[in-house]
Amino acid sequence: MRILRDLPTLRAELASLGPVALVPTMGALHAGHLSLIAAARREVGPGGVVAASIFVNPLQFLPGEDFDRYPRQEEADLAMLAEAGCDLAWLPSVETMYPPGQASTIIVEGPAQGWEGTARPGHFRGVATVCAKLFLQTGASVALFGEKDWQQLQVIRRMARDLDMPLRILGCPTLREADGLAMSSRNRYLDPEARARAAALPGAMRAAIEAMARGTSPAAALATARAGLTASGFTLDYLALVEPETLLEVPAPPGRLIAAARLGSIRLLDNMAA
Ligand code: AMP
Repeated sequence: MRILRDLPTLRAELASLGPVALVPTMGALHAGHLSLIAAARREVGPGGVVAASIFVNPLQFLPGEDFDRYPRQEEADLAMLAEAGCDLAWLPSVETMYPPGQASTIIVEGPAQGWEGTARPGHFRGVATVCAKLFLQTGASVALFGEKDWQQLQVIRRMARDLDMPLRILGCPTLREADGLAMSSRNRYLDPEARARAAALPGAMRAAIEAMARGTSPAAALATARAGLTASGFTLDYLALVEPETLLEVPAPPGRLIAAARLGSIRLLDNMAA
């Protein structure tokens, strides 16, 4: 696996290689990330290049968020990528990504509004900007994202479509722990007691979806889920049924059930088809 840190070298290397499938990450990799690497290989085949970026993007963290204490474990991440069959790891520094005087960003409206867009103002501006830069830096023909971050996936799709970016955006299913908790780099910060309780979030979501399928009104099913989660010690930012692409609220299935909830200082995100 090639490990690259500067843009001229990245461009020179990629010029002579096949089509690129890109998996953007912030590192602290887990099996969910590796499932994207495997999907990337299926997309470009043995003749293509599977590239993963590791970049903890300061532009998508708000003041007071966990940018400084976001987990960083470069050596372990590189070993995991190599083992998973990744061809190229792209590790730009903050200075490479944002040269002095940097003054351009991308603002997506529509699906970026509400939910995470409200909870974390400016977050999607950082995400869209860094993804656009990663797409241009690598010339990827396909980029793979996890459904885990459902709203993010819709924001990137919207941006790529709106700005005529010449690549496909592929969403991949959420990988979960045995008890149903969606894998996340931040799960390592859950203390054992919080970790044991965390699976109540997907549990309540699944129960609400099943209740709606049995004919319970969406309002009642969501109210039951909210009450149960609050009783289990969660502080709910939102639990809502939305149209999958626009993220606008819908009154009844079909849709996407999206949730953000805090256990202590750890914020958990999840979503499911409903
Ligand atoms: P992150 O490093 O958290 O920015 O995530 C990098 C990519 O991995 C994003 O496209 C995420 O949606 C995706 N991802 C994160 N967790 C999971 C998971 N549990 N299953 C599948 N993809 C995931």
